[in-house]
Amino acid sequence: MARIGSRNTSPELTVRRLVHGLGYRFRLHVASLPGRPDIVLPRLKSIIEVRGCFWHQHGKCIDSHVPKSRIGYWGPKLERNKLRDQQNRRKLRKLGWRVCIVWECEVKKLEALGHRLARFLEARGRTNVRKGS
Ligand SMILES: [Zn+2]
Repeated sequence: MARIGSRNTSPELTVRRLVHGLGYRFRLHVASLPGRPDIVLPRLKSIIEVRGCFWHQHGKCIDSHVPKSRIGYWGPKLERNKLRDQQNRRKLRKLGWRVCIVWECEVKKLEALGHRLARFLEARGRTNVRKGS
């Protein structure tokens, strides 16, 4: 299966820096998990996936637009990506992982994204503390 976009792309690096800045440790591209997720926080059973808006067809996002002249070529490929994303996400959830999807276009709004990630990670952090006590 061809790589979907490339690993270590700059949006991913930005998100890694954000998560690191929030004080969390993580593992990268964990091959033992469905879809080889980008950022994995084992202790929090949480995953952050950074997705390119085009490759992963971000809903109505302007960056996901496929030129009409190329739809015959891209249509089926992108449809497969989307399906695989959904399947992986379902598998991860069944395994008890929480998944936060970060879209490439969100990386442009750093402050908002930072807040969203902090909320996502803190929620699980608190749950763990309660369970452990
Ligand atoms: Zn987008």
